[in-house]
Amino acid sequence: MQVLTTIAETRTARAALQGSVGLVPTMGFLHDGHLSLVRAARAENDHVFVSIFVNPTQFGPNEDFATYPRNTDRDLALLRDLGVDYVFMPGLDEMYPAAFEAAVDVGSVAMPLEGAFRPGHFRGVATVVLKLLNIILPDRAYFGRKDAQQLAVIRKMVRDLDLPVDIVAMPTVREPDGFAMSSRNTYLTPEQRKAATILYQALTLALEMWTRGTRDAEAFRSRLRELIEDEELANVDYVSVADPDTLRELERIQGPALVSMAVRIGRTRLIDNVTLGE
Ligand code: AMP
Repeated sequence: MQVLTTIAETRTARAALQGSVGLVPTMGFLHDGHLSLVRAARAENDHVFVSIFVNPTQFGPNEDFATYPRNTDRDLALLRDLGVDYVFMPGLDEMYPAAFEAAVDVGSVAMPLEGAFRPGHFRGVATVVLKLLNIILPDRAYFGRKDAQQLAVIRKMVRDLDLPVDIVAMPTVREPDGFAMSSRNTYLTPEQRKAATILYQALTLALEMWTRGTRDAEAFRSRLRELIEDEELANVDYVSVADPDTLRELERIQGPALVSMAVRIGRTRLIDNVTLGE
């Protein structure tokens, strides 16, 4: 496994490759969710790149960029074990030299939900992902459904800008009690971790309601919000039932519907989702 820190050496390594290339973009502090993406990339491509870059432009001024968890040695050992060929780990100045100004704005899909609570977040995400795609030129790039709106934003960018890459979406990897894995889970105290199972309980309720035949989207939003608010440690940012591609809120569920939520527990913000009717 080769660790690359400059764009120039990454381009050189890429140019020498024949066969298909898979890319898994990450911010590091890897868990089984990330590793499931890496395994899929390994199984489906001749060469695998993983990027590790905590991207400052997708964090708001009061968010956790400075304290975001990092453990590079552990990450590299895990990736080596999975047979990754290249890890791209650029420094901040490599990705954002002093004169850097460009940004990708994908439009309406980035506006609601996470976009509303985290202004500029998806502009940062889309910009860094486009840079990674342009540097590594993968045939396939792997993303988790855990970040459903991010996936929709990337897909929209790829479609609108005619990027020659297949976006592969992978299922959310969960703890045994259903709690979705995330690098930020490390912020939770044991008591908060227990309370955090409320997100999965809400998604389970959504699946039950859907199975019982509920199709009124507002019934889902209000019932799920009620359930989450019963948990004292939980504060709801939003509960949404939206079109999975456009992220527009639905009135009635007719096709696939993305049920997503953001919940604050203490100072940790958790997101999770499930798609109904797929
Ligand atoms: P991050 O390091 O948080 O930027 O995540 C890197 C990639 O891993 C993104 O495509 C995420 O959607 C994906 N990911 C994060 N958590 C999970 C999970 N629990 N299951 C599946 N994919 C995940």
